[in-house]
Amino acid sequence: MSQDTLIKLQCKECKEINYYSHKNVKKIQEKLEIKKHCPRCKKHTVHIEKKKK
Ligand SMILES: [Zn+2]
Repeated sequence: MSQDTLIKLQCKECKEINYYSHKNVKKIQEKLEIKKHCPRCKKHTVHIEKKKK
């Protein structure tokens, strides 16, 4: 069984969920912060991880 957790990547500026990703929480402790394009802001913004419930 995989230990990867599905996470959401949320735009820091408009709070829109734009991307989904997988992360191995046992290996990566710190929160992800990735610069990605947000369709709502129409520019590249920082996306932070949100755990999927
Ligand atoms: Zn945005």
